[in-house]
Amino acid sequence: MKSQTKIVQGMPVPVAEKIREVFEEQGQRQTKTRSRIANQLADLATRGEDFTVEGLWHDLQLEDPHMGRATVFRAVEMLVGQGLLNRIEFANGSHSYRVCGDAHHHHLTCIQCHRVVDIDVCIPVELIRNIGKRTDFKIEGHSLALFGYCADCRN
Ligand SMILES: [Zn+2]
Ligand SMILES: [Zn+2]
Ligand SMILES: [Zn+2]
Repeated sequence: MKSQTKIVQGMPVPVAEKIREVFEEQGQRQTKTRSRIANQLADLATRGEDFTVEGLWHDLQLEDPHMGRATVFRAVEMLVGQGLLNRIEFANGSHSYRVCGDAHHHHLTCIQCHRVVDIDVCIPVELIRNIGKRTDFKIEGHSLALFGYCADCRN
């Protein structure tokens, strides 16, 4: 992994297809509810928009007033677990979601306006190896979140 900072370009992904595949792999029936969720997420992915479970749920309720919040929450968390959605943590403990694509990267977020920037800076492999050795852990992954104030919020 290169160490210089670069903004990762968002790319359109056939995300609705992938989401349907994951629902299927998880042995979940292709209900109308799930295909609504998949379509809505595909929309958000195309527009490159961040969303919260609340926001997604409200949008889905316009199509289906009986859509349950827990159903939406479980679907979103399952897709995070499968690596199709990314959960973005903010400095104040809240979070949102976005469809980031496959490339390994991390997020820099603004403490004030919650702007999110994808960055491909990562923890150097040697450093992780070293930590594993010192702690006698077989390290399987990591998360890294950067916080700060964007140019607009500093003015
Ligand atoms: Zn991202
Ligand atoms: Zn800001
Ligand atoms: Zn990383």
